[in-house]
Amino acid sequence: MNNTQSAQLWKEANGILVGGVNSPVRAFNSVGGDPFFVASGAGPFITDVDGNRYIDYVLSWGPLILGHAHPEVTEAVSKALAKGASFGIPTEAEIRLAEEIVKLMPAMQQVRLVNSGTEATMSALRLARGYTGRDLVVKVAGCYHGHVDSLLVEAGSGLTTLGVPNSPGITEAQAASTLLIPYNDLEAARAVFKAHEHKIAALIIEPVPGNMGVILPEDGYLQGLRELTRDNGCLLIFDEVMSGFRVALGGAQAKYDVTPDLSCLGKVIGGGLPCAAYGGPEEIMQYLAPVGPVYQAGTLSGNPLATAAGLATLKILQRDGLFEQVEAKSTQLSEGLAEAAKEAGVPVHGAQAGTMSCLFFQEGPVRNYADATQSDTERYAAFFRGMLERGVYFAPSQFEAAFLSCTHDDSVLDATLSAAREVFKSL
Ligand SMILES: *Cc1c(COP(=O)(O)O)cnc(C)c1O
Repeated sequence: MNNTQSAQLWKEANGILVGGVNSPVRAFNSVGGDPFFVASGAGPFITDVDGNRYIDYVLSWGPLILGHAHPEVTEAVSKALAKGASFGIPTEAEIRLAEEIVKLMPAMQQVRLVNSGTEATMSALRLARGYTGRDLVVKVAGCYHGHVDSLLVEAGSGLTTLGVPNSPGITEAQAASTLLIPYNDLEAARAVFKAHEHKIAALIIEPVPGNMGVILPEDGYLQGLRELTRDNGCLLIFDEVMSGFRVALGGAQAKYDVTPDLSCLGKVIGGGLPCAAYGGPEEIMQYLAPVGPVYQAGTLSGNPLATAAGLATLKILQRDGLFEQVEAKSTQLSEGLAEAAKEAGVPVHGAQAGTMSCLFFQEGPVRNYADATQSDTERYAAFFRGMLERGVYFAPSQFEAAFLSCTHDDSVLDATLSAAREVFKSL
């Protein structure tokens, strides 16, 4: 594989961008080697600047559920762009996108659009604190909610990968306002609420975590958290930035039939452009400015290009059978990889939630963050490199999900699995 152009750009990038990247997990630190530079994408494929083509299971870290450069999404964005990129004045598409969101996630009666998942969770926490008049927040170890100061504690993938358990620059007070519990452990949740009665504003969780690898909730866990938070007058926040429109069309809240107070969305709702959202019942959302006292704003929030991409994506995704088709491919990939590993005698534990999945390099079970970190990350790195050499791009970290799109057809999956069989045998 020729990497001349990528190598040259990587050298230039390191001179002017910190670590050569604008987001840490892109740097391949945990899998070794240097990242390639992408030139273009089409459907399930990306092509780098040296002309190498890869099957892509990262899909911009989740958003591209319709694949790269989907013609209808591209057209919607082009049309919007021709009319002007941004106004800072209301546009109709903001209403239409919010309507699609509310239709799929009825727990969100009212919506506020923002620009990134980080902004959504940060704002949802502020709203929860403003609404309840309380300070403390319960967070689940291994869940990632963006790089919000108070939430960068045991925050999953990027930090796990770098071996940074916490980040300098976060005040003690910010860290101290966050209480940690392990995933899938209702007893621990009960204990924390007992110890801090009437002081907890919100419990925030990835209902199906995708940032410590993919982990499924055990029976009754999410329901238990729902009851517990309600009994304590505390808000339950589902961070569905990754799981929304991926675990199921209506997200984890639909799949497990649990109604959170606030929901955070991102990734898929922007169809590859910067768009995110948070929302909930009118009673809570009315605490936000300009109606209520909790301030939150954004120059580019509800941007016409982002709303055009998001609206086109959500509409296409709801076409008959399309989501089920992506989910079936996800099952095919997940089961196929596990089988290939087994044939080669490589111990793995596979987890799948709708259109996302993960292969832990360990026997399992994987119930929480502590379990996830028992994975053989060296072996994952070898798997990653072997697949990349064969033109298949999985996430450059053990603790990320593999994402499917509606463009990953049988031939793409067959090519992936035959490469995987070779790679597993070499491990
Ligand atoms: C990606 C992600 C975020 C952060 O979103 P950004 O757009 O990167 O700020 C927050 N929560 C979850 C669950 C995510 O997967």
